[in-house]
Amino acid sequence: MLKPQPRLSALAPYTLARTELPDGVSQIALNQNESAFPPSPRAVEAGAEALRDARFYPDPEVPRLRNAIAEEYGIDWEDIVCGAGSMDLIATLVTCFAGPGDVVLSSDYGYAFFRTAAGIAGAQYVTAPENDFQVSVEALIDAVDGHTRVVLVANPGNPTGTRISRADLVRLRDALPDHILLVIDEAYGEFRDVPAERTFDLVARGNTVVLRTFSKAYGLAGMRVGWGLVPPQVQAEMRKLMAPNNIGCAAQAAAEAAVRDQAYMRMVVRETTDRRNRFAARLRTIGLSVPPCETNFVLIRFADADAAHSADAALRVRGVVLRPMGGFGLPNCLRATIGAEDDMTTTGDILTAWFEKEMAA
Ligand SMILES: *Cc1c(COP(=O)(O)O)cnc(C)c1O
Repeated sequence: MLKPQPRLSALAPYTLARTELPDGVSQIALNQNESAFPPSPRAVEAGAEALRDARFYPDPEVPRLRNAIAEEYGIDWEDIVCGAGSMDLIATLVTCFAGPGDVVLSSDYGYAFFRTAAGIAGAQYVTAPENDFQVSVEALIDAVDGHTRVVLVANPGNPTGTRISRADLVRLRDALPDHILLVIDEAYGEFRDVPAERTFDLVARGNTVVLRTFSKAYGLAGMRVGWGLVPPQVQAEMRKLMAPNNIGCAAQAAAEAAVRDQAYMRMVVRETTDRRNRFAARLRTIGLSVPPCETNFVLIRFADADAAHSADAALRVRGVVLRPMGGFGLPNCLRATIGAEDDMTTTGDILTAWFEKEMAA
């Protein structure tokens, strides 16, 4: 008999979005926070071109992409580590600094993959309470104990969509002991990238990492490229764990072209934000609660879990798939990715009809 590692038997696989639908209904998938827009045409072209040389291994140092990120974001290329999506980087970071007997800390509605990453490392996952869907830096600081090794926050959060201010993050870092790694996951950072709120400079402290991804604003989720701003000592540990050559040549080339096309990314962000604000406003007028958010999705809060379930069922019958939030500790919520304009109209129409029927009942 094969004997997997004991810590794996207690670990549930990371749950991806469910998409079963009735037969013959075409799907509007608004459940994975994928971009409403295709990647930059330049990225598509560069990825296709790179395939011609795919018989060669990619450059493991990812030099051109790191250089392009460094120039566009105004940082030093030597501080950049690329991974096969930021999930790859999250799992690696947690495994480098936490193991059995250690604690990985996040907040109640932290990104679901944080728990999985702690499980992969064999560490215990602990969450601190949030305040009305906002991460509470005080609660995180209170929750730190002698076993805490890694603190993870997503900013803006997924599924909440809310932001932690730079001042709060500085306060958190100042309060954490130096031996605790702070990971700031900015997967949606491009959706409102105010220079005064950037946290890249915290990385110079040596125990803080900031992560970004090509999966959201750049529309390259299928290429699997994430990057982090990582202090040298942390990079040295990560290199021991990460599989070499884990970012394919087409992915490197597509991401490089995408980051060079800032104008296209900003257009995507502008259009998505505008569409999101109109969708959220429409839901609020029909009486649904939508917390403020700075992402390519909204969290929709219903009166209770039954109402969320009933709305989800009404949407699925018509092929609209949102992400139920029971597994995130928010059974009264659904998360809706901002997709094509027509799809948001359809979703708004179905929810309006559902809400009127609920009120009449
Ligand atoms: C989507 C998302 C990621 C991105 O993961 P990739 O592996 O880069 O696709 C990371 N963190 C959060 C909070 C996310 O929502």
